[in-house]
Amino acid sequence: MSVKRFIAGAVCPRCGDMDRLRTYRDDQREYRECVSCGYEDAMRLDGEPEAQEVETRVTRPSTGLAADEQVLQFVANPKRKH
Ligand SMILES: [Zn+2]
Repeated sequence: MSVKRFIAGAVCPRCGDMDRLRTYRDDQREYRECVSCGYEDAMRLDGEPEAQEVETRVTRPSTGLAADEQVLQFVANPKRKH
């Protein structure tokens, strides 16, 4: 279903190569991957409504730092929750 497309002018944050990042998406996230070094990243497409309902001021919802950490864990442990 998902079509992978190269991002013109995008630079990989890990290896620094340009035009090596591909992007694809599903219903909830947009993924990026580097074909040079294997770097992977994902970001949520929605506005994380859960964070708005739970008014936690400890986690900074607007910075995206916490979300990035969750994404990295998600990538590191693919479908091995049990
Ligand atoms: Zn790379």
